[in-house]
Amino acid sequence: MPKANQGPMRRREPQRLCVVCRASRDKRELVRLAVSADGRLQIDDRGRGPGRGAYVCRRKACWDDRSLSSRLGRALRTSLNDEDRRLLSEYAGRLPEDAVAPVASSDEHPVLEGWPSHD
Ligand SMILES: [Zn+2]
Repeated sequence: MPKANQGPMRRREPQRLCVVCRASRDKRELVRLAVSADGRLQIDDRGRGPGRGAYVCRRKACWDDRSLSSRLGRALRTSLNDEDRRLLSEYAGRLPEDAVAPVASSDEHPVLEGWPSHD
């Protein structure tokens, strides 16, 4: 019986889901947000920080979305305070327009299925 793949496997770029538009993208096309040990939001641009993470496209549209902070709070099991929101809007302000082409998604009719709910 062959051994399970060990050693250097060619790694595919993992896909992650944007919490705002729910597009699935390569991890590198998303910005990871995490919550630090003291409960504060962190923009983990390298995607390597510890703890629970949530991902948002590097698209201004997602960062400008009014639901961003609530979706992030939900994904990260926390609630964002004013400082966290300011962090988000500062980051949004630095994003170039249309850094990533929008994917075809149902922006008009957000579909919630497939999204884990832990209410
Ligand atoms: Zn998005």
